Order: sequence, then structure tokens, then C-alpha cells
Amino acid sequence: MTTTQVSSEAHTQYKTKAYAAANAKSSLAPITIPRRDPGEHDVQIEILFCGICHSDFHTVRGEWSAMPTVYPCVPGHEIVGRVTKVGSEVTKFKTGDIAAVGCMVDSDGNCPECQAGLEQYCPHMTLTYNSPDVHLGGITYGGYSDSIVVKDHFVLQVPSNLNLAGAAPLLCAGITTYSPMRHWGVTKGKKVGVVGLGGLGHMAVKIAHALGAHVVVFTTSPNKKEDALRLGADEVVISRNTDEMSKHVNSFDFILDAVSAEHDINAYLQLLHRDGNMTLVGAPDKPHAVAAFSLIFKRRSLSGSNIGGIEETQEMLDFCGKNNITADVEVIPIQKVNEAYERMSRADVKYRFSIDMASLKSE
Ligand code: NAP
Ligand code: ZN
Repeated sequence: MTTTQVSSEAHTQYKTKAYAAANAKSSLAPITIPRRDPGEHDVQIEILFCGICHSDFHTVRGEWSAMPTVYPCVPGHEIVGRVTKVGSEVTKFKTGDIAAVGCMVDSDGNCPECQAGLEQYCPHMTLTYNSPDVHLGGITYGGYSDSIVVKDHFVLQVPSNLNLAGAAPLLCAGITTYSPMRHWGVTKGKKVGVVGLGGLGHMAVKIAHALGAHVVVFTTSPNKKEDALRLGADEVVISRNTDEMSKHVNSFDFILDAVSAEHDINAYLQLLHRDGNMTLVGAPDKPHAVAAFSLIFKRRSLSGSNIGGIEETQEMLDFCGKNNITADVEVIPIQKVNEAYERMSRADVKYRFSIDMASLKSE
């Protein structure tokens, strides 16, 4: 991990309520955390809804060896809320506005990645949680909390027609699926596969459908078939059925893999046609085995993609506004977060939990 210096700007702080995991095995429980008082470029947000991403689960359980978790860990990077205060230099927001925050809260702003609007690849990017906090020292804390203070560049605008509980997951699940589809040219008439119908997968289906693609969902859960069609899929394949899989050999332009656990990716690479691409967004810790011939034949490519830049995140939110796209959410109080994690570990989520943060006020 890169060493980060604590900023020289002195910050006073206030306390706010949150839910945290004390270690990799513990349940999430109430905690009080510090937030900086807003500086001149900061926006303070009272959090209304926060989605539960599988990355929250991986982090809380300490599953990612490349990104060790610092405890206590307050997860949450699908944040929608109301602006309660803005710094003197903030022009984009005013008190009372609805605002959103995703997976990043800062970056260096000058590197080639930032200059290209790809802050998610900046070597000094600060994640919303589990990154060194340059303002207060310690570690950043995420959205399972009452309020958050974020630099204005990293605060997004939510189209007014979108339901807020369902809009929160757009800030990670939405942009993480939108960005690679735009990058790899998913447009009308392209044959697009989505592997894993979870939080990311169901957003990918909605977005690919809105982009005009022919969408095929690959799922291990036969009971999700009807939902997949309702969400916008044209076809559904039960991925454990090899006969069903073989009907699609050499036929896809693009496949997005949004699976959170270990699985055989060669089974999907074979479904790409010449020069087709498969992009991994799902992030199981264990390395995938890739057969060279899965790629060599047909000059296929395999790549990865990390969330999306701030400009593209706003573009995605506006696209979702125009197309009336939000996540299908099960709204829960924060007190049910541990039950939600247990259900997520069994792929029993339809299709995103969104925490109503008003429930934290009673803690
Ligand atoms: P999720 O809601 O839990 O969905 C994951 C889906 O994967 C499940 O619904 C299930 O779909 C499938 N699955 C689970 N276990 C499986 C297994 N053993 N074999 C095959 N399929 C299995 O998770 P999510 O929030 O969408 O996140 C998915 C992954 O993306 C996570 O690893 C997360 O960390 C990662 N992620 C990456 C980025 C990025 O920037 N790259 C951003 C956000 C999240 P079916 O029931 O349909 O099979
Ligand atoms: Zn996420």
C-alpha cells in the first residue's frame, strides 16, 4: 500500500453514528466515528440510503489479500443523501440538494489517469472506506453511517425522477457495469453475456438492454430465470447445464463476468466469437485459471475493469435518469445488515439490499 501523508490543512472534527465490523469474524455493530468538519471544497451529506455491495462483504470478512482490511471497518460506497453543509468554494451543490457518493472520495488530480477523467486508476486514489484518510489520519469510513464529508469533485448529482433507495446502488453496481460496456462498444445489436445475476449482474442486464444489446444471462440459480427476463434479458442460460452452454459457442461480442466466487472462466471465453472480449468485474480472491487456447483460438481477449471515473459516473446517472433505471432493491434497516450479509453469501439477494439509514438514528 502507498504511504499517504496526512494533509497539512488542520481539520476540526465531529462525531457521527455508524456500523462497523471489529474484525473479520465479527458481526457489524454500532460505533461512533469521527468525520472532518467540511473544508472549503467539501460537501457534508446526511446519508439517506446506502446499498450493500459484495465488495463490502469481501472487505469486512478480510477476503482480499491484495487489499488488507483495517479494522474497525465501516463499509458502504453506494451512498445517496441530502446536503447539510457546503464549503465556501463549492458551487455545484447547496444545502438541501440530493447528492451521491460512490467508491472514491479523492485522487491526486494531476496524474495522467486523473487528467483523462479516470480517477479510479489514479495511484493515489482514496477509496470511500478502507483507504488511508489524508485529513484525519487513520482509515476512511464508508456509508453505513449517519453522515459523510466528501470533496465536491467526488460528489454526484442524482436525476430527480429516480427513487433514492434504488438509485444508491447505481453508484457502484451501476457504474461498474456501465463503464466496461461503454469501453468495449456495447451498442444496438451486439450479443452481450452477463455472468452472475446479483447486484452488479442485474444492473448490467438493465443497462445492456437500454443500450440496445441482445442480452443473455448466465446464472447458477434456476429460480432467477423469470426475473432475468423481466429485467431485460432476451435469453437465460443455466450455466451448470453444458448442453445449454454449448449452444452459444463462438457467438458473443462481449461478456461481463460479475461473479463474486471462484468459477471456471474458460467455459465463458469459449462463447466469444473472433476478437470478442470478456471483462472481469467480479473479484474473487483466488486467481482464475485461464487456458491459453481459450484465448488463442479466435484472438479473444480477457480484461478487467474497476468502477468508473467521476465524469462517466455522472453520465451513467443521467443515462439511468433518461431510461428510468434503478436497482431492484430490498430496503432494510441497518439492524438487519448481518442477516443481509448472510443472505448475500448464499446468492439470495433480489437484487440489492439498500439500507434506509434513518434506522441508524434510533441506535
Ligand atoms: P452479489 O450481489 O453477491 O452477486 C454475485 C452473484 O455471483 C450471485 O448472485 C450469483 O449469481 C453469482 N455467484 C455467487 N457465487 C457463485 C459461485 N460459487 N459460482 C458461480 N456463481 C456464483 O455480488 P455483487 O455485489 O454483484 O458483486 C459481484 C462481484 O463484483 C464481487 O466480487 C464484488 O466484489 C465485485 N465488484 C467489483 C467491482 C469492480 O470495480 N470491479 C465493483 C463492485 C463489485 P447467480 O445466482 O446468478 O449465479
Ligand atoms: Zn461496490
